[in-house]
Formats: sequence, C-alpha cells, structure tokens
Amino acid sequence: MPEKKKTALVTGITGQDGSYLAELLVQKGYRVVGIWRKTSAILPHNSHFLRGSIEFVYGDLLDSSSLVEVIRRDQPDELYNLAAQSYPGESWRLPIHTAEITGLGAQRIFEAVRQAKPDCKVYQASSSEMYGKVREIPQKEDTPFEPINPYAAAKLYAHSIARIMRESFNMFIACGILFNHESPRRGAHFITQKVSHGAACAKLGIRTSPVLNEEGEPMFNEGKLKIGNLEAKRDWGFAGDYVEAMWMMLQHEKPDDFVVATGQVHTVRQLCEAAFGYLGLDWKKYVEVDPRFVRPTETGPLVGDAAKAAKVLGWKPKTTFEQLVHIMVDQHLAKLR
Ligand code: NDP
Repeated sequence: MPEKKKTALVTGITGQDGSYLAELLVQKGYRVVGIWRKTSAILPHNSHFLRGSIEFVYGDLLDSSSLVEVIRRDQPDELYNLAAQSYPGESWRLPIHTAEITGLGAQRIFEAVRQAKPDCKVYQASSSEMYGKVREIPQKEDTPFEPINPYAAAKLYAHSIARIMRESFNMFIACGILFNHESPRRGAHFITQKVSHGAACAKLGIRTSPVLNEEGEPMFNEGKLKIGNLEAKRDWGFAGDYVEAMWMMLQHEKPDDFVVATGQVHTVRQLCEAAFGYLGLDWKKYVEVDPRFVRPTETGPLVGDAAKAAKVLGWKPKTTFEQLVHIMVDQHLAKLR
C-alpha cells in the first residue's frame, strides 16, 4: 500500500510566502490545500503557477465558520497560518482591520483547529516587528517585545495566544519569528520592491512607471523614486530560504519559537546603493525622501540571531543580501522590458 500523503493547509496562499511554501510542500509530496478569499485575484500572480498541483478553497480569517468547515473536511496534518494584513506601514491607516485579521484572525485559526482537528500541527507567522523599540541587538527568542505599530501589536497578540493555547490545551503551535524576507513575489509596496523597481526604471530610461505606490501615484515618477527613512535598518533574507525553516519547525518533536534571520543588518541607503549600483547607476540622482512614507515611529535596528534555529533545526540562510537584490532587480528589468 502506498503511504498516505500528508495534507497541509496554507492560509495566505496568494501571498509571497504562501507560494514558496506551497512549492516546497508539493516537492516534498504533500497534498496542499490553499485558503483564499472571494476577493483574492482570480489568477493570483503568486500562485497561478501552482494550479493543478494544489487545491484552492475559499475561506476568510474574518469568518470562523469557513475555517472550521475546511479543517473539518480536509483534516490537515499541518496548517501554516500565513494570512495577515502584512504591511506595517499600512497598519497605521488600517489599525482595526489589522487587529481583526493579523491578531484575532490567528486566534480564529487556533480555535478552529482546537474544535475540528486538535492534533494538527500549526505554524504561526510571527514577526520581528514585535521587537519594535529593540531592547537588545541582535534579537533572540527571549528578547523582550515592545511593538511600536498596530501591525506589530496584532502580531504580538497572535504570538501570545499561540503560546497560551500551546500551554493550556497541549496544542502543537510553533511560532517562527521571521525577520524581513523578500523575493520577486513580495508585495509591491515593500521597500525592497520599490527600490528594485526604481533602479530598473532608471536603467531602462522609463521616467514614469505603470506601477502605483500606496498614494496612488506612479512609483517611479518623473525620474524620481520617493521613499521613507533611508537610515531604517533591517535584516533582509530570501523568502525561498525562510519557508524551509517553517516546514522544519513542524517536523521538530515539540512546538517552540524560533528566530529566522540572516544576522546581517543593512540600511535602506545601502539597499539603494546595492540596487542602483548593480546597474551602474548613482542612486542619489533618483531617490528622494518623502515625509509621507516615513513611519511615525521607526522600528529597530532589527537584526536577528538565528542560532537556535541553526542548532535545533539545522536551518541556515543560503542567499546573500547582494544575491537577493540582484534577483529582485533582474526580475523588474525583465518585467518592464
Ligand atoms: P503577503 O502580504 O504577501 O500575503 C498575505 C496573505 O494573507 C495574502 O495571501 C492575503 O490574501 C492573505 N489574507 C489577507 N487577509 C486575509 C483574510 N481576511 N482571510 C484570508 N486570507 C487573508 O505576506 P507574506 O507572504 O510576505 O508574509 C506571510 C506572513 O508572514 C504574514 O503573516 C506576514 O505578516 C508574516 N511575516 C512576513 C515577513 C516578511 O518579511 N515577508 C516577516 C515576518 C512575518 P489576498 O490575496 O486575498 O489579499
């Protein structure tokens, strides 16, 4: 008798991490069921290539009944909760919505698992943004959290409920405290996408790009890219590497929290230098700071210590910062051409 395939349920399937994770799980022989919303794009740009190799089912983190129903029907062995309002900057404009989906949405997932498949292993997408006003550098699993934006507060709520339900009901809920991870599939308004898009436009002599920023203006406008704080410091890794850590956490014998990071810190200024410099351009001619994109309070410097993930799970990042920037710039060049 062939061994029964394991079933993995993935929320946030249309997002960056959902698509890389689904590819990994399919490769590993899982039956993958991705939850998407009625309002998700019909052919989601991140996951349409998965059609035929995974199943899609409607569900919404706002609607507990939809979650209970799919878990009851599909009886997943593993559930990866990646769905969220995932833009920290946007969470200032949508604080209640962010709390509803990023915070309470995770709790609805945990409760649905408790009711419909209590032995299902759950991965919760926690975030380095929870460290906020950082108390130590680099940040580890036991570094105190001090969130300073609504997104981070909602993630910390979900992270706390995950631990509470793990301890109270003996549930397997592992939390990955992931530092920024990027790829060509990253949401368009994140800084790595903006900068690589701007560099590609500048190289190709496109003065006004067809892509809009969060203010509804061309992202590269009249030869200029407008962004926020140049001195913001982040630890940027490649999403393809990070989804492996998610899977490894659910293969570990017990549920736990793990920091997933490169341990390398770069400023937005260095990101601009790397992206424009890769194409032989001087970023200072094209990039302008616009106060509209500066956050009311700046998180960080965020830099993670992933020693525990290395020791316990055997996880290590493979892609360097320079490689990541080159992959992203190349993708924008190809798209714009
Ligand atoms: P994305 O923004 O690319 O994807 C978010 C996903 O959530 C989308 O598929 C979206 O679907 C879905 N979603 C939003 N609202 C709902 C809802 N009400 N019900 C069901 N699905 C919903 O995020 P990433 O892939 O980059 O990140 C994955 C997770 O990891 C997120 O929780 C994020 O906060 C977290 N994280 C990400 C980091 C990063 O650097 N990427 C760092 C640390 C944590 P739709 O297409 O319908 O909008």
